[in-house]
Amino acid sequence: MRPISSSIKYAALSLAMVCLSVLSSCGARGNTGASDSAAAQAEAAKADTLNLLFAGDAMQHGPQLKAALRAGGGKDYNYDDCFTLIAPEVKAADYAVANLEVPLGGGPEYRGYPCFSAPDSYAIALREAGFDMMLTANNHCMDSGAKAAKRTCSALDRLGLDHIGTYADSTESARRIPFIKDIKGVKVGFLNYTYGTNGIPVTGGVDVALIDRDRIAREMKKTREAGAELLVVTLHWGVEYNQIENRTQRELAQFIVDNGADLIIGAHPHVVQPMKVVHNARENKDVLIVYSLGNFLSNMNDTNCRGGALVRTRMVRGQDGKMRFDHADYDTFFTAKPEGANKNFRVVPAWMPEYIPAGQKSAYKRFEQSAQKIFDENNVNVSRRHK
Ligand SMILES: [Zn+2]
Repeated sequence: MRPISSSIKYAALSLAMVCLSVLSSCGARGNTGASDSAAAQAEAAKADTLNLLFAGDAMQHGPQLKAALRAGGGKDYNYDDCFTLIAPEVKAADYAVANLEVPLGGGPEYRGYPCFSAPDSYAIALREAGFDMMLTANNHCMDSGAKAAKRTCSALDRLGLDHIGTYADSTESARRIPFIKDIKGVKVGFLNYTYGTNGIPVTGGVDVALIDRDRIAREMKKTREAGAELLVVTLHWGVEYNQIENRTQRELAQFIVDNGADLIIGAHPHVVQPMKVVHNARENKDVLIVYSLGNFLSNMNDTNCRGGALVRTRMVRGQDGKMRFDHADYDTFFTAKPEGANKNFRVVPAWMPEYIPAGQKSAYKRFEQSAQKIFDENNVNVSRRHK
């Protein structure tokens, strides 16, 4: 989503484009002048700063379904309350991404753990909170079978949400990969892979992008060759509940760095893992690795699963004209369960502790202390924004 300041900047750029267009139309002589002018316009429209935001796993457990039905007056599933406190942060980014860890089965029955199926209104609430893209390559994407996996893609299309990671069939994946998003005139390539599908066979011709080094390298190359100025690789990986990344994650991250990624963003362990800025000497650029953002919304009860982190990244155009990762910071949030007047689950930013229900304040403190310890002891050049 575009913040006000960048809207103004965008308007200024548009004005510059109009001026360029007027100038070039005065001086243009035939087709060459016209195409020069088009190139100049495209160049002028390119932003020199981009802010991309990422959040972790949007889960959907049984108690969340019940709460949403209650919030919808027993008639429909309403998630409007879930994200209102965090939405301004999400909307402040130029583009925001979360992992949708539930198929959108289409009902009328919906299910929580272990085989998820969520109503479309869940994705609508995420969209209204400011998210632009849903990642769908995760271990739950086949929970409700091939039909639901395919429907998830078509439903997200209808809802106007970008999505990557699972595809109705190989024709669809051939059509949709590489996925390159024009964000403020900058071409950003996004890729998404999962370690597996919980042992559920991938049937019906569905293409789930599995972690496979050949596929990742091939698709990164294809995305770069198709004109992406930045490469964002998102991964569903790691070991659940481990707060430190394992060797497999480290080695795969290095492989993806070596293949030219700018951002590597992970989730799945349901707890946060470290965030590190590393350097790619060959391409003379810094690269951000976020091993796990933890949960975005869930009904998980363990201390470390009660919340998660969002990471904000700033990409800047250098003097050589190339976009590069420049800076990242994070914030944490806590999932408040329904209590008192709160009918629904809510993502509560850590800087708004007054919204934590009285009975959950100690769980909130335990989650915060544990997440902070992981980041303090392990992060490299990624610090908290709201101290
Ligand atoms: Zn997962």
